[in-house]
Amino acid sequence: MDRDAAVKTDPRRHLPRVDRLVDFLRGVRPELPLWAITEGCRAILAEERERLRGNASDSSSLLGRSADALGAAAGAIAAELARVKPQRVINATGIVLHTNLGRAPLAEGASRAALEASLGYSDLELDLATGQRGNRLGSVATKLELLSGAPAAHAVNNNAAAVLLALNTLALGREVIVSRGELVEIGGSFRVPEIMERAGVRLVEVGTTNRTRIADYERAIGPDTGLLLKVHRSNFEVRGFVEEVPMEELAELGRARGIPVVDDLGSGTLIDLGARGFPADAYAPSRLAAGADLVCFSGDKLLGGPQAGLLIGTSDVVQALRKNPLARALRLDKTSLAALDWTLAAYLDGRAEQEIPVLRELLEPLASLEERARKLAASLASVTGIPLRDAAPGGVAEGASAIEVRADRSFVGGGSLPGFELDSHVVALRADGVSANRLAERLREAPVPVLARIRDSWLLFDVRTLVPSDLADLEVAVSYGVTSTR
Ligand SMILES: *Cc1c(COP(=O)(O)O)cnc(C)c1O
Repeated sequence: MDRDAAVKTDPRRHLPRVDRLVDFLRGVRPELPLWAITEGCRAILAEERERLRGNASDSSSLLGRSADALGAAAGAIAAELARVKPQRVINATGIVLHTNLGRAPLAEGASRAALEASLGYSDLELDLATGQRGNRLGSVATKLELLSGAPAAHAVNNNAAAVLLALNTLALGREVIVSRGELVEIGGSFRVPEIMERAGVRLVEVGTTNRTRIADYERAIGPDTGLLLKVHRSNFEVRGFVEEVPMEELAELGRARGIPVVDDLGSGTLIDLGARGFPADAYAPSRLAAGADLVCFSGDKLLGGPQAGLLIGTSDVVQALRKNPLARALRLDKTSLAALDWTLAAYLDGRAEQEIPVLRELLEPLASLEERARKLAASLASVTGIPLRDAAPGGVAEGASAIEVRADRSFVGGGSLPGFELDSHVVALRADGVSANRLAERLREAPVPVLARIRDSWLLFDVRTLVPSDLADLEVAVSYGVTSTR
């Protein structure tokens, strides 16, 4: 083919112009905003041009996609662009603190407090009694002190920021000693060695992956040591031939040598759940009692509040944190502050177990979970027409549609309590001729997307993380998923 002929048959010449495709799409999807339609059309035409360039001289691909197909693809991009994110989804995974699903759901009161503080003006930094400038963190700090018994407290944007601030304040340009068994990565982007580097401190590793003794710390202490750091292994367990130094011993060493000891607890609570079967060391004040000078933990893990990094400790240490210019860069916004203050008040009032969703979900009795699973199974059976059966092993013919209630286990998740599982009840659903993966995909496309667990050919809905207001939307999603795949 000579060059002119190649130019004439170049399929890219048949692509519609952007403004034509935009006009077309505005007619078909009038609900979408113009900016999103324009970008969707531009993107899809660029993609199509690129696709056709690869085989411009191949006469079999002379025809690109039809205008209708291009319009539909551009519409999908535009719809995604125009969607406000994050949007509400239904968490049927049973994972109480699911990082991909926004970790802790806020208590209703906490979200109302956030709304009220942000919708209009607020007394964020004003003392209403005197009319003078006030302390934006005063209320939260006082509540944290009352709840923990700590002499002083501070709060920042998240726990990664809390650790950064602590390291930078207490050990800038100096050495920080950490056990090799605690050089962890949490959630992909928080790595202890990297945070240390950015905080301007020098990491000194001691011990081995599985065993670290107090003598290892002692040997590593030198004139340049600024801090002893303990990091909670929030998302994995080490079992077998293991040894770590308890906080009590590490704190004693720190005191003897005049070196501050910081505990990065990660997931901490302000009520002791030890008697309820949860690890006792998650109770943040217990780490102070064990001798740490400063304990940092997240607001949106086990505490069940908004994203925040909470710091409780001695007055000297907290004073130093507050004076660090980084504290200003890492400060909490008014919306989170209001939600956090409400959450802490719920703890002080003794309402936490009733009102904070994370605690409600973690502490719900098994009998109540089973009852909720039975109700959900019955309503899903009635909206889908799929038969509800007893969960008897081998009781259902291979591949046949069925709904069952089963005993199962749920996870706490969110880098909180590794290896810690809770007995739960799930509704298992299988639809004839539809793979569990396909069904899960359809549920994610529902008006209110639903996330469930997949096991073999079954979709599992764990009721632990479902709230009553989810149920109607869940029914819509499941009946849509089951019928539209037929
Ligand atoms: C989760 C976690 C962090 C990070 O906390 P964010 O609130 O997510 O910033 C830091 N350290 C430990 C030990 C954690 O578990």
